[in-house]
Amino acid sequence: MNRYVQYMYSYPHKTAYRPLQNVSLIDYMENLAGEGHSLYLHLPFCESKCGYCNLFSVAGCGRDCIDAYLDALVRQLEQYREILPKSTVFENFTIGGGTPLLLDPGQLQRTLQTVRAYMPLRKDCDIIIETAPKQTDGKKARMLKELGVTRVSMGIQSFQEEELAWLGRQHDGRRAQAAAELLTGMGFGCVNFDFIYGLPGQTPESLLRSLEKAVSYLPDELFLYPLYIKHGVRLEKDGKGAELDSDHTYRLYRQGAAYLKGQGYVQISMRRFVKRKNAHGTGREFQECGFTGALSLGCGGRSYLGRLHACTPYRTARQGALEEIQEFCRREEFLSVTNGILLSDEEIKRRYVIKHLLIGPGISRAAYRKSFGAEVTEDFPIFRTWIQLGWLEEMGEEYLGCGVRGENSSVRERDRDRQGYNEQDWGSRVSMDGGEEHSGGNKGGYIGLTEEGLGLSDYLGPQLISEEVRKRMLEWERDNGQENSFL
Ligand code: SF4
Repeated sequence: MNRYVQYMYSYPHKTAYRPLQNVSLIDYMENLAGEGHSLYLHLPFCESKCGYCNLFSVAGCGRDCIDAYLDALVRQLEQYREILPKSTVFENFTIGGGTPLLLDPGQLQRTLQTVRAYMPLRKDCDIIIETAPKQTDGKKARMLKELGVTRVSMGIQSFQEEELAWLGRQHDGRRAQAAAELLTGMGFGCVNFDFIYGLPGQTPESLLRSLEKAVSYLPDELFLYPLYIKHGVRLEKDGKGAELDSDHTYRLYRQGAAYLKGQGYVQISMRRFVKRKNAHGTGREFQECGFTGALSLGCGGRSYLGRLHACTPYRTARQGALEEIQEFCRREEFLSVTNGILLSDEEIKRRYVIKHLLIGPGISRAAYRKSFGAEVTEDFPIFRTWIQLGWLEEMGEEYLGCGVRGENSSVRERDRDRQGYNEQDWGSRVSMDGGEEHSGGNKGGYIGLTEEGLGLSDYLGPQLISEEVRKRMLEWERDNGQENSFL
């Protein structure tokens, strides 16, 4: 069995988006009324392209190009501000990339100050930024602190020199250690490090050496990502894709997850391990694609506005991404939505299930019933099979409110509670009309992944894709020289 089919961090995937006509952001902005929404800024610039990266990011853009991008951002902000509901308050703001800290200090300061000037951020808004070791120095770290950044997420991937070289990362182990020490000593609300496993030459020992080193800096969270080599990335062109071995990757996952849990980290999803005594920082995976509204700034991020998911066309090759950036820099009008997808009731339901199962605390039967008027196991009969196979489990009936479970809760659930994990993160539910509901009671309990199911997340998730979305994704793959890379 290939356990590594597709990473389902959001649904539907961008390859299911299509050109849209006569769609305006104005008609969907009401989805941002009130509190609890997310703001995202995409800065798609990197020093060089990592061997495995298929994100919308480009290397080789100079200072002038970044300045032009920031000028366009101001025009975009001016227009968005005009149409935002008066009541909108963003509770988190993420600056992702790319490598945002590739910007020089002046550009960084300008970026944060400009967004603050135009967008209604909550007073204690969580401000999150992604970085890489090579771009993390004392001057920039202090500036982030002064600018109110609360959470820093750094892609280390490995502390082993040969693994970093194989991945095509720009930093070496020593640089990564210095950056890890610097960030964890700065007093940010949350620091997290990303690691990759599944490299052909990686051993359980080398993975554990990296994780031991990471844990010694006491990060609040660690993300463990299985290595994917997607079409078009350098490692695929170098013929390395054939060297990946799903069983080897899974063995490394088991080792890494067991080690982190032994160190007191709580596993929240297949990738995310949290050691946090407070509720500060609500978690990158969830925030990027939350159930409340999300507005994206810049050119490559997605906006989630009720039924409308909007984004520029999915570009992974350098030329295509560069053209999108140039188009963004020239753009004068930002309210027309020319690419995205309008979700049907069926897709909203699937999105709800996928997100709660793979990233959230599991699916509350009662909340599902209330939102969709049906039993989740009737809508998704495959869950009964997965329960029999030991991949899903039924959890406690007694739900006492956000973050508190009754005695029937599973061990994993109670562990989360003991760690002070803020279950309120998962408390909002999207109803069919896009409104929110809170699941104040939970007759019928939860359905969640077992430990074995968690490790199968990238195999189980793709099986929940609808026929329509699957058709679109396959069509995109065919048009882009790929064939059947997922179920
Ligand atoms: S993995 Fe991150 S740092 Fe590397 S090229 Fe992609 S966006 Fe840039």
